Amino acid sequence: MRRMTSLADLKFDNSFAALPEGFHSRVTPSPLAGTHLISVSPASAALLEMTPEQLCSEQAMAWLSGQIPLPDGDPVAMCYAGHQFGYYVPQLGDGRALILGEVCTGSSGHWELQLKGSGLTPYSREGDGRAVLRSSIREYLCSEAMHALGIPTTRALCLFGSEEPVYREGLERGALLVRMAPSHVRFGSFEVFYYRQRFDRLRQLADYVVDHDYPHLCDLAEPHAALLGEIIQRTATLMAQWQLVGFAHGVMNTDNMSALGLTLDYGPFGFMEAYEPGLICNHSDYQGRYAFDQQPAIGLWNLTRLAQAMLPLLDADHGETAAERAHELLDLYKPALSEAYIGGLRAKLGLRDAQADDYALAQRLLDLMADDKVDFTNLFRDLADLQVASDDQDAALRQRFADRARFDAWAADYRARLRQEQSVDSERRAAMHAVNPRYVLRNYLAQQAIEQAEQGDYSEVERLLTVLLRPFDDQPGMAAYAAEPPDWARDLAVSCSS
Ligand code: AMP
Ligand code: MG
Repeated sequence: MRRMTSLADLKFDNSFAALPEGFHSRVTPSPLAGTHLISVSPASAALLEMTPEQLCSEQAMAWLSGQIPLPDGDPVAMCYAGHQFGYYVPQLGDGRALILGEVCTGSSGHWELQLKGSGLTPYSREGDGRAVLRSSIREYLCSEAMHALGIPTTRALCLFGSEEPVYREGLERGALLVRMAPSHVRFGSFEVFYYRQRFDRLRQLADYVVDHDYPHLCDLAEPHAALLGEIIQRTATLMAQWQLVGFAHGVMNTDNMSALGLTLDYGPFGFMEAYEPGLICNHSDYQGRYAFDQQPAIGLWNLTRLAQAMLPLLDADHGETAAERAHELLDLYKPALSEAYIGGLRAKLGLRDAQADDYALAQRLLDLMADDKVDFTNLFRDLADLQVASDDQDAALRQRFADRARFDAWAADYRARLRQEQSVDSERRAAMHAVNPRYVLRNYLAQQAIEQAEQGDYSEVERLLTVLLRPFDDQPGMAAYAAEPPDWARDLAVSCSS
């Protein structure tokens, strides 16, 4: 790959900023006092055809942290609305973020560079426009970890710390995350124009999204219906992927749902540890609306809000014909979700062939894990060690279950199933290791990195990033990063203030 020599060599397009007023507001970043670089993700830098070293030049850092304007940038804050906890909020928008500019690369397409924590915008409402170090570290690490797990997500290019005081529950320090995605358009970006009855802008937005990110739909007879259909499919797959890796998003408001089917806006998220289907990782979610096992249903609820907002695009009179079309498309969701989820469960169990009872077999294991509070990530990873012809390796697995006889009964049925397809231990083990990660961003790991960073030591952020960028490889000397939470961390509460 050809390497750029400087950020100044990048080609900018700024296509979202080129949309008319109403889609966004022009803003200038307000730099933070004492900004300093904490970390650069080499994986994201590579997408811009740059090495981390090239990004670390003084000039690049000043550009990326908003200290001086990017020569070809055109910073704007996006305007959007959204349903928050089931209720429509007519105006949200980037209250503490801005699109710095859109980079066009030769090899990896276009990337909107977004600053998060860059100061007040016209959409800040009562907020201060800032982000604190702890939540920025969490988003930085999790974006890159999710990508490495093979899950569509916004990316994180680099993270800055600062001396700027920011008040949340107490005094904290401000931080700045540079994240990137082909586009940050959300379901709420459509909703804002639908509820304002600005159907001209709604159409313009849909045209923009098709041209910019779904070019293969451009020449279809009904590109907007096709767009909705594809967002439905992508969201269904994304929900399946979250469930399969034990990721709970925590705040699935429609303003946090990407029109590209990406994981977007990392707040009080969590990875499943002791398996608990009803896990609520957002401590402000008193009703459990966004509990782990609700995510697939909420995905559909949110898509229904998007479909409603797109009704005027589905049929000229957006009456009954449009509603019927929307229902037809929404009906794609459940089959797409089941296919991705059941296929994913099969892969987690190392099953090659598809059989009718596979879902039941997987669900029985999940029920066992829930009853005995077994660690989700480690159980699936270590299940790869089971041998078809002998139960010599079972001791390590059995000891994770309180009800060992129940596990033995399940393991006997699993072995019988494996024998039916002549499963080969070594092959199955490799295949299972490629889908069941050894390392995920456990809350306590993030917490340790945060506490050290708050003392000015960023080495743990760096180490954790390195481990999480290769989640499927057993990494020598890194066993501690696969350890189940220590006692002090079992009930670690993640504040939703950020
Ligand atoms: P979130 O729950 O983080 O997705 O944010 C919901 C809305 O609140 C978005 O419009 C954010 O831009 C806005 N917001 C969150 N925190 C702040 C803040 N500290 N200052 C200004 N706006 C904020
Ligand atoms: Mg948000």
